[in-house]
Amino acid sequence: MKSEGLRFPEAYAAVRAVRPEARMNAGFARQLELYEAMGCRVDATSGLYKCYRLQRLGQQHPELQDLPQEVFAIDPTNTCPASNNEALYRCRKCRRSLFRSSSILTHAEGSGPAAFAHKRIKDPAQRHHDGQDKCTSYFIEPVQWMEPALLGVMEGQLLCPKCTLKLGSFNWHGEQCSCGRWVTPAFQIHKSRVDGIQALPVGGFQIVKT
Ligand SMILES: [Zn+2]
Ligand SMILES: [Zn+2]
Repeated sequence: MKSEGLRFPEAYAAVRAVRPEARMNAGFARQLELYEAMGCRVDATSGLYKCYRLQRLGQQHPELQDLPQEVFAIDPTNTCPASNNEALYRCRKCRRSLFRSSSILTHAEGSGPAAFAHKRIKDPAQRHHDGQDKCTSYFIEPVQWMEPALLGVMEGQLLCPKCTLKLGSFNWHGEQCSCGRWVTPAFQIHKSRVDGIQALPVGGFQIVKT
């Protein structure tokens, strides 16, 4: 794919043309699609790669007694503040730093309340509520302070490590965002429980709009 500049379906077709008996298992096909999406290189900092690695972990370690350290983002309280212009998200109650914007794993917005089969919508106009952001949560990669909460269980609450404010929840089998999209696995932080701040080049901070 890299040397010939082929897209994944073309590369697969080319291999099948030479060896019609060639079959690819779904897992390997998924890896190659990911490889293509990352521009034919493995980028461990890309959100796509992080999502993929988390999905694999959820499948491979059902008991999750021992999680590899590399899946955890470094606790922002352990790193130099304002080392770059990334936004930092803090507990709204006690201001403890929780995660950086690079830990947010974005997802394609779902189709809104219509995606919730169990909820009937009375007024279709309510779907686009004043053009508000339909996602009321951030889905992020696990951060080091979450580790004790994650060990040995597939789902649970995420509490602020300092003041125990309920920030959100996690589920290795996935959770549905308010926009309707399923995110698997899910480490969900309610936007209303955190404040985002961004370091300004001249010093000081500004509040990030959520
Ligand atoms: Zn969403
Ligand atoms: Zn707190």
